Amino acid sequence: MNELVRCARALVGGALREDYAFVVRDGSIAAAGDFGEVRARAGDLPARAYPANRLVVPGFVNGHSHAYQILLRGWADDWTFAKWRSEALYRVVPYLTPDDVHWIFVAAFSEMLAAGITTVAEFFYLNGGGNAHAEAALLAAQETGIRIVFARTWMDAEYAPPQFRESIDLAAERTLDLQQRYPWANVCVAPHSLHAASPEMIRAAAAFARSQDCTMHVHVAEASYEGEQTMQAHGVTPIGLLDRLDALDERTIAIHAIYIDEDERRLLGERGAAVIHNPMTNQYLGDGICDVTALRAHGVRVGLGTDADVKPSLIDEMRAASYLQKILRTDGSALGAGEAYAMGTREGAAALGVPCGDLIAGCAADYVVLNANAVDPWGPPVNALVYRAQDAWVQAAFVGGVRVFTGEPSPLSVRARAEVARIAQRVLP
Ligand SMILES: [Zn+2]
Repeated sequence: MNELVRCARALVGGALREDYAFVVRDGSIAAAGDFGEVRARAGDLPARAYPANRLVVPGFVNGHSHAYQILLRGWADDWTFAKWRSEALYRVVPYLTPDDVHWIFVAAFSEMLAAGITTVAEFFYLNGGGNAHAEAALLAAQETGIRIVFARTWMDAEYAPPQFRESIDLAAERTLDLQQRYPWANVCVAPHSLHAASPEMIRAAAAFARSQDCTMHVHVAEASYEGEQTMQAHGVTPIGLLDRLDALDERTIAIHAIYIDEDERRLLGERGAAVIHNPMTNQYLGDGICDVTALRAHGVRVGLGTDADVKPSLIDEMRAASYLQKILRTDGSALGAGEAYAMGTREGAAALGVPCGDLIAGCAADYVVLNANAVDPWGPPVNALVYRAQDAWVQAAFVGGVRVFTGEPSPLSVRARAEVARIAQRVLP
């Protein structure tokens, strides 16, 4: 849809702009600025206008998700991480068919869109010995209209469920197949972690990312035991091991990076790697607190993710990112609203390598319309968004200029929720 979008109030680069406008052409923002200037560049395009009780913001960027985990919500809460992983996660997944995956992902992606998340990096490991499950998840992305970065997992550890395990050759072949057949899906590679993928597999995945010009996502140091194990087995820290395996560069997206030291943070910065921080999941699972402030001081690009998807909300993640840094450093100035908002939008997009996250020329036309009636006119809207907003403020969401959330649950999402209830009855203990 090519059109001119006029906003009485918009957030651009985190700052309030009044009577702002942008031109949407072929899914991207072709021009943006003051309405008076941009109008002339819109020719005779149709116009869409939002009044002052609406705040138009870039769509939120979810840097890390396992969407199927919405199935674990409720019944597997409040367990230790080890019990949650072995008795909830690994217990359920063998029973999920591609059709189940499709409906679960439609439900999860619909929740995300309703919360203003327009891009999701889905770290997908329900491989099921092929690509059928992955294709079901991609179909869900296509149907819901969410922008996806599909991080296709590689795993070869002994302890992993057999339907996840693959040889390096098979994993590479299947990932390449997805890249070729789904060019819109930003398919990239994701050796699961330092414990679930062998050093050879991680090295091969990094080489794959270079040869295919894509990113490489990897879980790193979510728990303290990983550092100890890595040191015992390889005599080096987790980030040091990635570096030794030629798997630490500007393509690397480290998920979590909680239990790392200052030398590792410096190395992440020097190599140009990115980190995705998951503050709500880190609290939910009792993981610990990533020192995001120190990472950013080393120039590391940091984005935010909803990870376990207990409540996929980037507004919650932004708020938690700020609060956790304040607690970690017992310093109320540690990470402010503007920084948390940047991580949930343009910095997260930069971390993923996707051109979105702001309302400027060159970005994808991914934007969200918020009900601004509760935004205090006496303070910066970005502070209201981070510290006071609710997902219910989201009135509409657009991806590539196409409206993908209208303010009400879509018939598809209503059906998906019913299907997920049926699946849960079948597969849950
Ligand atoms: Zn994860």
